[in-house]
Amino acid sequence: MRKLIQGIHKFRDKELGKYQELFHRLSKEGQNPHTLFITCCDSRILAELITQSRPGDLFVVKNVGNIVPSVNVRGSTNSTAAAIEFAVQTLGVKDVVICGHSSCGAMEGLLLGVPDKEQMPHLAEWLEVAAPVRELIENKYSYLKDREERLTAASQENVLFGLENLHTYPLVKEKLEQGTLRLHAWFFKIATAEIFAYDPIPQQFQRVEKELT
Ligand SMILES: [Zn+2]
Repeated sequence: MRKLIQGIHKFRDKELGKYQELFHRLSKEGQNPHTLFITCCDSRILAELITQSRPGDLFVVKNVGNIVPSVNVRGSTNSTAAAIEFAVQTLGVKDVVICGHSSCGAMEGLLLGVPDKEQMPHLAEWLEVAAPVRELIENKYSYLKDREERLTAASQENVLFGLENLHTYPLVKEKLEQGTLRLHAWFFKIATAEIFAYDPIPQQFQRVEKELT
């Protein structure tokens, strides 16, 4: 906790000056983020840092494993749906990014069948939302023996699964048909801090280069 308190004071003393006007404006005008950014709770994934975004730019949803449930998943397992509806309808974001990452503990849990349902019922139930990803890895990627390669495949298939599920939301479908919303599947490689975006033409994740918009 001491670190957090020190951080609060350091921010106010050293950084706030740069943001004061922006915070003041945002408090008066409200937020108008351009992107809904769905990523993992993992402490190594900082959406604002890796995209160099400022307050008011991103509407960030962090959940365990950056899983996007389909619109039919209701109740306690789908607070992410609430954020999707709010960001797409009320805030009118132009882009939705689902960003998975390397060495994802949630994906590892999904593949290995941990955690224990008795000990962590919520986590177990949540990961089961992405059960189709596990099946896909077992069926389509059985040739991958290396743990990290299987995890990467799971993380990448999981963001594509999320993308598919986004299409089940009537609001999202409507905006896609109107051409006012774009969906993106990203993968963040922690060791090199590189972002790879899914390109549907070669059906591959390609490193995001400077000219990409
Ligand atoms: Zn993760």
